Amino acid sequence: MRADRVADAFRRLFGDAPDGVWAAPGRVNLIGEHTDYNDGFALPMALPQSTLLAARRRTDGRLRLHSAQGDGRITELPVASLAPGSVKGWAGYPAGVVWALAEAGHPVAGADLHFDSTVPTGAGLSSSAALECAVAVAYDELYGLRLSGAALARIAQRAENAFVGVPCGIMDQMASVCCTAGSALHLDARSPEHHRHVPFDLRGQGLRLLVIDTRVAHDLGDGAYAALRQGCERAAALLGLPALRDLPPAELPRALHALPAELAPLVRHVVTENARVAEAVSRLREGNAAALGPILTSGHASLRDDYRVSCPETDLAVTAALDAGALGARMTGGGFGGSVIALVRAGREDVVGDRVTAAFAAAGHRAPRILTATPAAGARRLTPPPGSERQP
Ligand code: ADP
Ligand code: MG
Repeated sequence: MRADRVADAFRRLFGDAPDGVWAAPGRVNLIGEHTDYNDGFALPMALPQSTLLAARRRTDGRLRLHSAQGDGRITELPVASLAPGSVKGWAGYPAGVVWALAEAGHPVAGADLHFDSTVPTGAGLSSSAALECAVAVAYDELYGLRLSGAALARIAQRAENAFVGVPCGIMDQMASVCCTAGSALHLDARSPEHHRHVPFDLRGQGLRLLVIDTRVAHDLGDGAYAALRQGCERAAALLGLPALRDLPPAELPRALHALPAELAPLVRHVVTENARVAEAVSRLREGNAAALGPILTSGHASLRDDYRVSCPETDLAVTAALDAGALGARMTGGGFGGSVIALVRAGREDVVGDRVTAAFAAAGHRAPRILTATPAAGARRLTPPPGSERQP
């Protein structure tokens, strides 16, 4: 069992058994991209790929961090001296969560933490949220905080925004903490507490979801994301709205007319994308997951043509998947590379995967990595809680 292996590694590193092992998954977003920071809607699902964390509470205020995917060293930090920007590299994500908990007034102190993850990093599948959320759920238990899933997600987002310095919305962390197996998460970023679980029975409906990691991450991503966010905020201000989520679709044509040319396409994407989330949720509730196909594909066109966050590799993966008979496909995550999802009929996975791989080879791109995803559980404890008898 993976949890046992991670606990064994913890023992070798820190000399004692962990208090427990927790897991937090990566995610793909089915639809609702670049909507969370506009107070809008999204529909992510958790992946079976997850970050495991073996953790033990410490009473001396020291935080010791090690990752099987890190640089091989143990990073040691006094919790009292944590400050935004003070921790470089991967350790900033977990340290940021401890800082955010302390900053919010929670009585937290040190811990020994060892991570081991199967979430590909930098592939748009939210390995960063998995890392943060594993710490959030482990600390919640180790320090008896009893916070809600949405509260833990907010802490993890605050760590990424303020401590690491990445201006992400709340979707990734909400997906990692709050998803349930067999369901997608209908998220309203304005009130994350009121999320809903929407049954997403891929297998029962003869469907598969391919995740195609293009293995490219274009550098312009970071600055462009912040600029898009600012563009949306400027558009909302010009329209006199708290956020673009507050623009009803019926008023979109008038708004597009009134806005500067560079902002209009952003607004069109956000408004139509929120509508696509609502439509996808309706189709899923009717038990018609195949109807998601065209919704995904029009979402991709909107990201490509209006929001302009796709890139040649993601566009090619989408086109090749559709050519090979996928019901729909789109880039997922922030864009400028990362991953594409393709909804396919069961039995067509290999045909679609092979076609995408061949198209990449013909274009001179590195071979993509292709996974088949099922909606998995959100962050949770894997080892039995203290005091309970271990089942044989
Ligand atoms: P994504 O979240 O799409 O995977 P990000 O750039 O947001 O991409 O986050 C990736 C970063 O998160 C990595 O560069 C690394 O610093 C950190 N990270 C994620 N998972 C791990 C891990 N298991 N061990 C160490 N660092 C990790
Ligand atoms: Mg990330």
